[in-house]
Amino acid sequence: MDASHPLLIPFDNSYARLPERFYTRQRPTPVAAPALVRLNTGLARELRLDPAALASPEGVAVLAGNTIADGSDPIAMAYAGHQFGSFVPQLGDGRAILIGEVVGRDGTRRDIHLKGAGPTPYSRRGDGRAALGPVLREYIVSEAFAALGIPTTRALAAVTTGEHVYREEPLPGAILARVASSHLRVGTFQFFAARKDTDAIRTLADYAIARHFPELVEGPEKYRGLLSAVIARQASLIARWMHVGFIHGVMNTDNTSIAGETIDFGPCAFMDTYHPSTVYSSVDYAGRYAFANQPAIANWNLVRFAETLLPLLGDTQNEAVAAAQERIDAYPVLFQTAIADGYAAKLGLSQRSADDIPLIQDVLTVKAGGGADFTLTFRTLSDAAENPDHEAALRALFTDASALDDWLVRWRLRLVKENRTPSEIAAGMRAVNPIIIPRNHLVEATIKAAASGDLAPFQRLVDELARPFEDRPGIDDLKRPPQPDEVVHATFCGT
Ligand code: AMP
Ligand code: MG
Repeated sequence: MDASHPLLIPFDNSYARLPERFYTRQRPTPVAAPALVRLNTGLARELRLDPAALASPEGVAVLAGNTIADGSDPIAMAYAGHQFGSFVPQLGDGRAILIGEVVGRDGTRRDIHLKGAGPTPYSRRGDGRAALGPVLREYIVSEAFAALGIPTTRALAAVTTGEHVYREEPLPGAILARVASSHLRVGTFQFFAARKDTDAIRTLADYAIARHFPELVEGPEKYRGLLSAVIARQASLIARWMHVGFIHGVMNTDNTSIAGETIDFGPCAFMDTYHPSTVYSSVDYAGRYAFANQPAIANWNLVRFAETLLPLLGDTQNEAVAAAQERIDAYPVLFQTAIADGYAAKLGLSQRSADDIPLIQDVLTVKAGGGADFTLTFRTLSDAAENPDHEAALRALFTDASALDDWLVRWRLRLVKENRTPSEIAAGMRAVNPIIIPRNHLVEATIKAAASGDLAPFQRLVDELARPFEDRPGIDDLKRPPQPDEVVHATFCGT
């Protein structure tokens, strides 16, 4: 133990104070030889944690679940969920344990969760463990999301366990210390709705309101307000995913956060070449969670959420259904507004009008038809806004650029109305069009290197992705799309 850095985690565990049927008290199962892979020192400080203490053997023992820190009250949360459309009345934290909550410097309460911390009563046939690959994937992608400014759970630390996990083959085991605004899911509400436990639904709704939407606490229609607020956050979140070409891959209701954060990065992926029907997840045979389906799936998940709240939404069933329907009906407009606003910014349009919608829709059609890289076309378009000479580089990103020129003429006519200099327009575009994203082939390559003991590519990728909008020397290999032989066609849950 490093006596100069005693580990003090100012836990305040509000969820563990809820009724006992909300969770099961469960300690992590100790592992053989914990070793720190990476600690997110910036996030630790935001949480008022001492990075040096967390990196000490005492801290690593806590991050691995070998030691229960003072004030920690470890629990596995109960939840249910629709998985690929089928309802499963009991899921729950099968391989993750909530060790407690802390209130950060910004006043926000956050969960500290150990993913891969050993079996719980919700593990079903699983071993409660995680392999190094998926842990690093979640670390990379969730931190890249944070840097992109998209609501997300965060990675506080990754540790290896010194043990193997057995999937198709023995793999190095690891644990991710994940931080979330909460782990309340649509599936948490469904757990109690399936049991017709209205008291629990009310308790949970009150908890969610107090924690995430305190402005609703005093209002007369707080449960209706909760539904509207969750709908608004999901509409905004899914639009943000679409703007960066992200495919979550498992948009089940148990992976839908009430706080509106991206959660449970499993077989998720960023698209290279744009096509709306893109699917990467090896288990998504029907393409249910394909890129372009995500807005409609979120809508479906929100209807499931609304159903759980019905007992709280009105004095009669009819009144409750009408109140829910009215709020659900707002989703398409909220989503369309968010998606159009974001794309307008990506195209350099500061004041968006309804007239701009065809221009936005058509850039996607042109890209899809032309086999263009999603990320680089928007970024190169930013360069072309400053200097038309960059149109050649833009064209080079297309396998078929035949439809591009007509679109560029329309876009330039529209930019004239901006009343900003080309440099100003380009700077605004570059601030929303990333130059680097966690491309699949990069993530896979770093995971492969890590499995053979070389963590340097992982560390570098995480470091560089912290500045996604800034072009600079030394990142050429991270900018370019995969070569044909590098393309990753399928991603795996890794459970
Ligand atoms: P996920 O695909 O990560 O969203 O997990 C779906 C459900 O399966 C959750 O209830 C998880 O806790 C559970 N689960 C996934 N992997 C494991 C595992 N290795 N051991 C136990 N439970 C697991
Ligand atoms: Mg999940």
